[in-house]
Amino acid sequence: MLIILSSTNIQSNVKSFRLTASGIVQGVGFRPFVFRIALKSGVRGFVRNLSGSEVEIVIQGNSENISRFFSLFFLNLPPMSRLEQVTITPFDGEILENFKILKSEVIRYEASQIPPDFSVCSDCMREVLDSRNRRYRYPFNSCVNCGPRFSMMMKVPYDRENTAMSKFPLCDECAQEYSDPDNERRFDAQGISCPKCGPRLYLEDLYGNRLDGDPIALTGKLLAEGKIIAIKGIGGFHIACDPFNDDIVLMLRARKGRPSKPFAIMSISSDVISNFAEMSPVERDILESPERPIVLLRKREDSPISRYVSPGLDREGFFLYYTPLHYMLLSEVKGNTLIMTSANKHGYPMCVTESCVKEKLNGIVDYLLYHDRDIVNRVDDSVIKFTGDRFHILRRGRGYAPLWIRMKGKFKGPAIALGAELQNAGAVMFDDKVILTQYVGDTDRLENLREMEKMLNFLMDTYNVRPRAVLVDKNPSYQSRQIAQKMLEKFPMEMVEVQHHFAHVLSVAADHGLDEGVAIAIDGVGYGDDGNAWGGEILRFAGDEYERAYHLKYVPYPGGDVNALKPRRMLAIFLSQIMSLEEAGKTAGLNENEIAMLRSSLRVNRIYTSSTGRFLDSVSAFLGVCDQRRYEGEPAIMLEASARGGRLLDLNIPVVGNEIDTSEAFRWLLSEQGKVNDIALTVQYRLGEALAKAALKLNPQLILFSGGAAVNEYILKGLKENSEGIEVITPRRVPSNDGGIALGQAHYLLLSQQS
Ligand SMILES: [Zn+2]
Ligand SMILES: [Zn+2]
Repeated sequence: MLIILSSTNIQSNVKSFRLTASGIVQGVGFRPFVFRIALKSGVRGFVRNLSGSEVEIVIQGNSENISRFFSLFFLNLPPMSRLEQVTITPFDGEILENFKILKSEVIRYEASQIPPDFSVCSDCMREVLDSRNRRYRYPFNSCVNCGPRFSMMMKVPYDRENTAMSKFPLCDECAQEYSDPDNERRFDAQGISCPKCGPRLYLEDLYGNRLDGDPIALTGKLLAEGKIIAIKGIGGFHIACDPFNDDIVLMLRARKGRPSKPFAIMSISSDVISNFAEMSPVERDILESPERPIVLLRKREDSPISRYVSPGLDREGFFLYYTPLHYMLLSEVKGNTLIMTSANKHGYPMCVTESCVKEKLNGIVDYLLYHDRDIVNRVDDSVIKFTGDRFHILRRGRGYAPLWIRMKGKFKGPAIALGAELQNAGAVMFDDKVILTQYVGDTDRLENLREMEKMLNFLMDTYNVRPRAVLVDKNPSYQSRQIAQKMLEKFPMEMVEVQHHFAHVLSVAADHGLDEGVAIAIDGVGYGDDGNAWGGEILRFAGDEYERAYHLKYVPYPGGDVNALKPRRMLAIFLSQIMSLEEAGKTAGLNENEIAMLRSSLRVNRIYTSSTGRFLDSVSAFLGVCDQRRYEGEPAIMLEASARGGRLLDLNIPVVGNEIDTSEAFRWLLSEQGKVNDIALTVQYRLGEALAKAALKLNPQLILFSGGAAVNEYILKGLKENSEGIEVITPRRVPSNDGGIALGQAHYLLLSQQS
């Protein structure tokens, strides 16, 4: 935290001060906290929210009052708040009579954070479960320490009238709590409500026929009967059903047209989850944290959950309830556990309205359980994976977005970044801050692209940003460029292109405050400087310049990304490096016709690839683990899963010139007769080892590691164990995948402004 005292400083005779506090200070009980300690310390003055999401405090009193205030202030901050900066200046306004909470002001001194959504706290749950409490079984119970924030905010400052709670006026009892300074959890708490005055729950079929009775108990009964039900939560709708019954899970797959992509599982406690999966103490801590993300845990062999929930994978995504509604619903169902998967049509954004469910999910869900509080900002559940103790964020949504990331330097002017295309997030930047949007999905689809534009506009309005630069990926065919075009018409500014893998690398660099280094970026593909499809790159960089030192051996890439959909075709291309195409095609399981087509496309091919993803896909197909891609990364993810319990065998993937020669891996695969898990583990581990060998030639002090494939636990292990004690660092606050690209782009702008 930074404390700034103005130059005139505190003289003993000055007894009025203004404090401007920024960080996460709105929506977390900050004003009531200040009010209480003001009364305790006997100072006069006021506290109010300002529109940059910061809080202004004025205090007046004798030196004893003032010093008492300061010590209470810095020692007892509200639990959910985060103080990043406090500016203290003498205040020379009028003498005040008492201490007050004033109405929010539309002035802004210092920008502050938009609070993310928090899970329900234990105090609120205790009330919900207490039959004598007036909030007994109230699904929307919240207090100053918990509940939705960002997802229901229309604009800053965080006041009730600026949120979706504006249409629910407080009843007398709630108003009494709201205005009672001794009520620690509800005094001045903007989002509070009760069964009398708050949102209501409804259960309906898709034709609008309402079911009478307790909606939660009824929903529990319908789920037990095998029904599939859409449930409105904080940042969007989920689809819920019984996870223990194969027939029901398969019915959901059939209805959704989603043959294999895993579903997330929500449970009532970590102890319940421990019956289904193994969890380390750090994994348990993250599961139970107020962010409540989905955590990918190792399945237990004896887990009673249907194997169709995450077919072929060794990990399953679990999360805990985060609203009283979830808790009560989970209490009603078998095993206190449900499938809770995002309610969307394949590739579309998650539904946030009842009409979306009725229109888009007709034929998928049987009923919908919803409430009448609007979801203003769509926020998907966040997804976390640990490899050992290392934290990877795979999807940055609820609980994490839209917190900002502070950079080491200041931007010369505000700017925006559009990321890449898949699993995308954009960013707005100003001063020394980068604010990533929440995960918005694949922006090659128009609906997601619009969502990204909406979120960028929200952040630009909130922080009063008029961008002077827009950052895009070098790939000219990315749809996210459409937003850049629109913005260019609105604001006169420059468009800056950033190479995809350099942006991956810079996302780690930004996260760790570095401006030079040696880095590895491995992923599917990104547009390379030579027009080829890069994806296994070792870069050395200083400031905004980099050198491509090593890469995976180029192989032909006829037709481009169509190869991602056809792992066996890609396998034939890899094998054709070490045998005739005829033989390669047959070994890869292609028929005569497919071989002939591949031959003719290779004849005219001009694009090559160094993709790590395609290499892993091909190994997956070779081993018969997975030879079709039904969701992004499926063959590679299945390959990782198939290595569980494997042993490491001898294999050397050599570095020849500036290429890591992956063809050696296929030579070895053809001769190796061992068990699939041994072979799968060996190929991935040895690839990591080869990356280490190449990186070490550059005499690194640290190895920066990013890209969608950087979360592969065996590649990471091979890299770490062979890097001769050099530390390997990965992104901590943004995803390694393309969801972190916007941060790398922002860092590029900063570095280019400094050079
Ligand atoms: Zn609470
Ligand atoms: Zn009420």
